[in-house]
Amino acid sequence: MINMKWGTPEKLRELLCELVSWKSITLSDGEKQFPILLKEKLKDLEHFQKYPEHLSLHQADLGRQFLTAMYKHPEATDTICLISHFDTVNTEEYGDLQPFSTMPEKLTQLFLEKYDDFSQDAIKDLESGEYLFGRGTMDMKMGLAMHMRLIEKASLENWPVNLLLLTVPDEEVNSSGMRCAVPVLLHLQEQYNLTYKLFLNGEPVFSQKPADPQYYIYTGTIGKIMPAALFYGKETHVGEPFGGITSPFIASFLTQKMEWNTEFQETVLGERTPVPVTLQQKDLKLEYSTQTPYRSTALYNVFLMKRNASEIMDLFERIANEAANDCNTVYLQVCQKYRVEPVGKVRVIRYQELLQYAKDKFGWEYIEEIKKEIHANQEWDDREKSFRITDKLMIQCQELSPSIVILYAPPYYPAVNSTGNELAEECVKFVTERALEKYNLSVERIHYFNGICDLSYVNYQDSYEGWTAFEANTPVWGDSYDVPFKGMEKLNAPVLNVGPFGKDAHKRTERLHIRNAFEEIPFIVEEMIYMISSKKKTADLKS
Ligand SMILES: [Zn+2]
Repeated sequence: MINMKWGTPEKLRELLCELVSWKSITLSDGEKQFPILLKEKLKDLEHFQKYPEHLSLHQADLGRQFLTAMYKHPEATDTICLISHFDTVNTEEYGDLQPFSTMPEKLTQLFLEKYDDFSQDAIKDLESGEYLFGRGTMDMKMGLAMHMRLIEKASLENWPVNLLLLTVPDEEVNSSGMRCAVPVLLHLQEQYNLTYKLFLNGEPVFSQKPADPQYYIYTGTIGKIMPAALFYGKETHVGEPFGGITSPFIASFLTQKMEWNTEFQETVLGERTPVPVTLQQKDLKLEYSTQTPYRSTALYNVFLMKRNASEIMDLFERIANEAANDCNTVYLQVCQKYRVEPVGKVRVIRYQELLQYAKDKFGWEYIEEIKKEIHANQEWDDREKSFRITDKLMIQCQELSPSIVILYAPPYYPAVNSTGNELAEECVKFVTERALEKYNLSVERIHYFNGICDLSYVNYQDSYEGWTAFEANTPVWGDSYDVPFKGMEKLNAPVLNVGPFGKDAHKRTERLHIRNAFEEIPFIVEEMIYMISSKKKTADLKS
């Protein structure tokens, strides 16, 4: 038996606890430090001492980095890309125990001494001793630890396949890490003559219902897009309510129509997307005054399976037109009742049309100037910048008001699905049979991972170039946000997610199932990769 650093369940548990102890909340300093520490850790492996060029850090945005670590077999071209993210969500909800939130062994001990308002299920799991608690344990440093073990094992045993470990920041916010990794994956492909066979993520199992004990694997991931609107009314003084039309009034019609609208719901392969919901609705007016609010914004969340950005924009535009019609009808009735002259009729404009209109009116240079000014505000995120750019343009084109300007706000996660792909199906079959036979673990396959993940940025399939509507209607496109659609299209290998079982991701009771995470899944994934690579070997021998 070859001596491995991370070979036994105990050693793997120690590795996980070390990774968790490197606190790496999205957008924190720890997130910047994490890949540097990880690189040092991986340098301990003999493989990277021999091939230091196979271990690298690459630039993401905002001073953050992502890491690639490759096990390269001298003759193999087939490559399995092991994807993970190392950022975690915040730890505020741990309260007094926050300092221990990233010390899983200690935290689990402390919880045993005192758990006040845990759910019944969490108490049961805690007392069973079968779970390890802590921020980032399940989501998803365990996935990374498992991938590190695979690299170690493959390099010591000379597996006839290449493994490319990719671990990125920012998954929990904008996925800038993964979006920046796309060109790097393409570059490595060329440099080492790699053939990507599979993009394997190790995100944890997400429950389908509360306290769901079922173990799932995933052959795809759900998409998410955010249609947004700027409502531009006509200002007036509160003493003259009929002198204008407020933006909250216009907004209310669209929000009524968007919230829970089943027209946006998709059902594919027996799975259904959650209906849309409002993520934010607010006025752009910054302080109280007796001038009526005439600029408001709304942001809606829409999940996707088959639809692309163009189809959603068409649907959103139709709904916005219905909302504008309803709003106009009500408004006209009021005007007739009180015998006042209407200030206008609310119309719907795509951001793309507003931009073209402003460009014709003022020229491109002026628009670039406006954008630059907005982007200089570092405290604004991409959502806020999107609204502010649109708002600035509308202020200069008030002849278009009252109106609903429709646009997209980042981020956009395209849906990806590999169900039916030969290799993906073989993997599903293998994992299902092996888990049952060896561990009596029942495995169910889900077609669309319901937790949103970085697999959205590989294997983009959309022959109708549906992304063009996204580019054209995203105000911050190309400046502070972009999605490398063309590159993603070239990374056209199937996707699969096989990760550890845990519960309550993003909650204080985030926990990892010890036996599943340290014994069962690492072993099954290892066998699965071995199955893929040795099958290739036999095929070569036959030919
Ligand atoms: Zn995650």
